[in-house]
Amino acid sequence: MAVVTRFAPSPTGHLHLGHAYAALFAHARAAEARRSGANGRFILRIEDIDRGRCRPEFEAAILEDLAWLGLSWEEPVRRQAEHMDDYAKALSRLEAAGVIYPCFCTRKAIEAEIAAASHAPHAPPGGADGSFYPGTCRRLHADERARRVRAGERYALRLDIEQALATTGPVTWSDAVAGTVGADPRAFGDIVLARKDVMTSYHLAVTVDDHLQGVTLVTRGKDLLPSTDVHRVLQALLGLRTPSYHHHPLVTDASGKRFAKRDSSVTLRALRAAGRTPAEVAALAGFAP
Ligand code: GLU
Repeated sequence: MAVVTRFAPSPTGHLHLGHAYAALFAHARAAEARRSGANGRFILRIEDIDRGRCRPEFEAAILEDLAWLGLSWEEPVRRQAEHMDDYAKALSRLEAAGVIYPCFCTRKAIEAEIAAASHAPHAPPGGADGSFYPGTCRRLHADERARRVRAGERYALRLDIEQALATTGPVTWSDAVAGTVGADPRAFGDIVLARKDVMTSYHLAVTVDDHLQGVTLVTRGKDLLPSTDVHRVLQALLGLRTPSYHHHPLVTDASGKRFAKRDSSVTLRALRAAGRTPAEVAALAGFAP
């Protein structure tokens, strides 16, 4: 059986120890498979849909840092921004299934509606889309929707989560640590699958890409575990394969705080410039091969 893993950084900053751990972890699972006589492959994917924040120089630095760490990956590297038509196809399928709708709301209008509601809803666990969407545009009449689209009003596309779950029925996914998980993404609300500025989103792109790239084992930090419920429901709606998952612990500093891109002292570049070897960096990240 083939084991295909991936590391999927966004080129919005330099890689830090947390990334080093995630990349080494994914790479090691593929290498392990090869050692046991299976076909193990490691893929690198550049998640660059957020055009305002992604920079080519960060992408170049990512490739250089990973190579310095001693990792190798398959070519060509997939860049999400080059595959917008794949995401558009998925959106058409979801539209045909009647589970997405255009949302014309501005961030301000959403905030005002939430503030006006008597009980403030909880933020989604992943925090991916800001506040829980109150469903304003879900309730728009079809004529009104069509009129506003025709008038050229800009819109995002949201998943009608209740409709989606009614369509898929109960679905589960499996994690190496958490075991079998029943997918319940309702805490995210009607999440955005295509933004007003780019016609996709993290959730949609990652789900489509993992399928198209034949990824069999998704490894990533535990912070993304709730998001997998969303991805599993999208797989069911789109008829995509469900990989296995391994959500690993996040690398934290001595005070237990996770590293972020702004912590420049723990970037791989800084550590390398300070004379650390790749093996020392792996050890600092807490990675035991
Ligand atoms: N691109 C995401 C990040 O930089 C990772 C996505 C994933 O592994 O699913 O955090």
